[in-house]
Amino acid sequence: MIERVLLAEPRGFCAGVEMAIKALTWMVKVFEPPVYCYHEIVHNEWVVAAFEQAGVVFVDDVSSVPEGAILMLSAHGSAPEVVAEAGRRSAVVIDSVCPLVTKVHHEVKRMAEDGVEILYVGHAGHDEAVGTVAVAPGSITLVEPEAGLAGITPGGGPVALLAQTTLGMHEWADVLGQAKASRPDVMTARKSDLCYATTNRQEAVGVLADKCDLVLVVGSENSSNTQALVRTCRQLGTRAYRVDSAGQIRSEWMEAASTVGVTAGASAPDHLVQEVIDRLAPVGGVELVSTITEGEYFPLPPQLRSLLTVLQALVEAGVTARAPKAGGRLDHDREWTASEALLLLTS
Ligand code: SF4
Repeated sequence: MIERVLLAEPRGFCAGVEMAIKALTWMVKVFEPPVYCYHEIVHNEWVVAAFEQAGVVFVDDVSSVPEGAILMLSAHGSAPEVVAEAGRRSAVVIDSVCPLVTKVHHEVKRMAEDGVEILYVGHAGHDEAVGTVAVAPGSITLVEPEAGLAGITPGGGPVALLAQTTLGMHEWADVLGQAKASRPDVMTARKSDLCYATTNRQEAVGVLADKCDLVLVVGSENSSNTQALVRTCRQLGTRAYRVDSAGQIRSEWMEAASTVGVTAGASAPDHLVQEVIDRLAPVGGVELVSTITEGEYFPLPPQLRSLLTVLQALVEAGVTARAPKAGGRLDHDREWTASEALLLLTS
């Protein structure tokens, strides 16, 4: 029997995911299906399935998008050649890249132009890492966090260490330590490239991990920040398991467990967290373990805002009846949440 649940705060949707989900919801509501999306809009099985049911077709190769189609690019950021090809073949392209990923793209571009050798700590094959490396493939070396800098010897020129936004903080610290040991002059972003959501969620789960017999992390297998939350707990010596939903909880995990921690990766909807808590049914209730209040907000992509503004003007002029009615008015976007957008999509 589970005595109590400690629920991490912050957890779940970050500002980048909020923006991307709302943006794709607008697209689905404004355009006739299919709306195409390059890569999963965010790495969450449930969210992707909800959009597929609403008429979104996810593709991993932009050349498979029909000419003249409506296309969105995912929150993880896309390679420059993908963005260019998308613009050539699609009637409308909306790029929902998170601004914090764009910041890293800008760092890579600027450093490559300055002749800096870039070591980029990230997971091979992850959409964000693929897109970032493609910004300056001739100047950048991918460093897997688990392998670190073993076998990588930078040249004698200027060197920088950059990172995927969703790494584990301990992984980043390890590789940074190795880099500084061999090159004390290594350049980095002022703190790191790990985003606020990644660090806040790891700090929150770190606070509750040693008070729990185990921690359940809600999120999908291909979600890098979700996996980092699991590794954070295990590094602190606490058992941790990732689940997409309550149905994946195994009874043997709960044997001899009294206090269970619950958190969620940045792309996991909160209703799935609630279902996990319901399944655990703690007799002593749920205690919130809050470390910081997040207030970050990212506006909808500029291309989408322009498009919706034009559509609204056409409706008001009586030219078209197809109004941008996804979630209300554009100028109220801050008050409209991605959870409400998903509700609209699935109701
Ligand atoms: Fe942006 Fe961080 Fe969220 Fe990724 S996890 S979408 S970088 S805020």
